[in-house]
Amino acid sequence: MSLAAEPALVLFSGGQDSATCLAWALARFARVETIGFDYGQRHRVELDCRPQLRAAMAGLDAAWADRLGEDHVLELATLGRISDTALTREAAITMTEAGLPSTFVPGRNLLFFTYAAALAYRRGIRHLVGGMCETDYSGYPDCRDDTLKALQATLSLGMDRRVTIHTPLMWRDKAATWRLAEALGGAALVEAIVEQSMSCYRGDRGRRHAWGYGCGDCPACALRAAGWKGYRGT
Ligand code: ZN
Repeated sequence: MSLAAEPALVLFSGGQDSATCLAWALARFARVETIGFDYGQRHRVELDCRPQLRAAMAGLDAAWADRLGEDHVLELATLGRISDTALTREAAITMTEAGLPSTFVPGRNLLFFTYAAALAYRRGIRHLVGGMCETDYSGYPDCRDDTLKALQATLSLGMDRRVTIHTPLMWRDKAATWRLAEALGGAALVEAIVEQSMSCYRGDRGRRHAWGYGCGDCPACALRAAGWKGYRGT
């Protein structure tokens, strides 16, 4: 079976990175399913954006609409209970003593990929796609290429089936991620991601900037704004 004939499962949070990953997968795989996690994020806006973003992307291309399969949302409330961080509690977003933003949920991506791999196994899918990136997020140890390569090996051994973790954004900064979206789906995809995706840690959908919705001053908004500026060259 060629790569194109196989199905893939995309970790789809509803943010810019996972939307770009979904487009990347839709351009490559015969069927693409999505998975999201509800772990008690202190805002639900990102989760709420997911269906509209999926619909907007399917509306851009008949082949993409054909390939886009089921969406799965898994409850991970336990993760929220054990994570004392700014994403799951009403706390200020600051830098911790470990040099990580207080939004960091320890081991989150390890859990996400493990759940995704278990679901994928049951659905006959061996390709997992995630928007992790070392370029902008050097502080997050579970976004590192080495971490995810080790996890790929662990999952393949532990499930006795080849699991491949694709991270198309690993070596791209945010400006390059916008350029990838443009290459995959043109200006229409860029516009859909600007309008429908949410990256803001505060889940603020009340303010619209050139780069989309967000509070404008949390670390995720700052990164997205800087990436947009780099992409547009302004
Ligand atoms: Zn924000």
